[in-house]
Amino acid sequence: MSKDIKKPAILLLGAPGAGKGTQGAALGAIPRFYHYASGDVFRSLDTRTELGKQFVEYSKRGELVPDEFTVELWAVQMESLIATHTYKPDIDILVLDGIPRNVNQCKMLEQHTDIHQVFHLSCPDREELARRMRKRALKEHRLDDANEVVIQNRIQTYEETTKPILNYYGDRQHDIDASQTPAKVLYDILGQLQTLEVYQEFSNPV
Ligand code: ADP
Repeated sequence: MSKDIKKPAILLLGAPGAGKGTQGAALGAIPRFYHYASGDVFRSLDTRTELGKQFVEYSKRGELVPDEFTVELWAVQMESLIATHTYKPDIDILVLDGIPRNVNQCKMLEQHTDIHQVFHLSCPDREELARRMRKRALKEHRLDDANEVVIQNRIQTYEETTKPILNYYGDRQHDIDASQTPAKVLYDILGQLQTLEVYQEFSNPV
């Protein structure tokens, strides 16, 4: 990547259906935050391209796309967002949603990002997650949300592969009760955000 100043970031972590996308979009609407949703970027790929085909193959089984493709796509997108001044790394806090998703991706992103806080959107009620995914399948035509086996596989992938990254970030973790209303979840995230040094620094007028 270009002249790498480490990008200040926060990470939204949670099982599929926990509300990362909803919270990420809300945070991204606030000036000085930029929401990067890995799943959305994958879904916007042209499915005739090699990467687009790979995405469909993995995601329809509820599996993760290989790390090299995922991180390379992230890096290319970042370059282009910076080049077009859509995302400004010197004044915007990056809201990462869906990446990193395993320990290897954490390591790959380490040299490019400074993750100040991991918001763990916790929803132990797996049936509630599945219910949200089924609802989303109808509204957003998501292939990976439509099938029971795939839903269970994604929850399992989260438990086995993604959740362990909480250990990687140690005391940077902050738990949020994701079974609350979206407004209350956002309220809790914003409350914690105010306490972060990076937020105080970045909220000074430029
Ligand atoms: P959800 O938020 O419902 O868990 P996403 O929309 O973030 O799902 O991602 C949908 C699919 O895109 C994932 O199941 C996976 O196949 C692929 N994907 C997204 N982000 C990553 C990532 N960081 N690493 C590997 N695969 C990813």
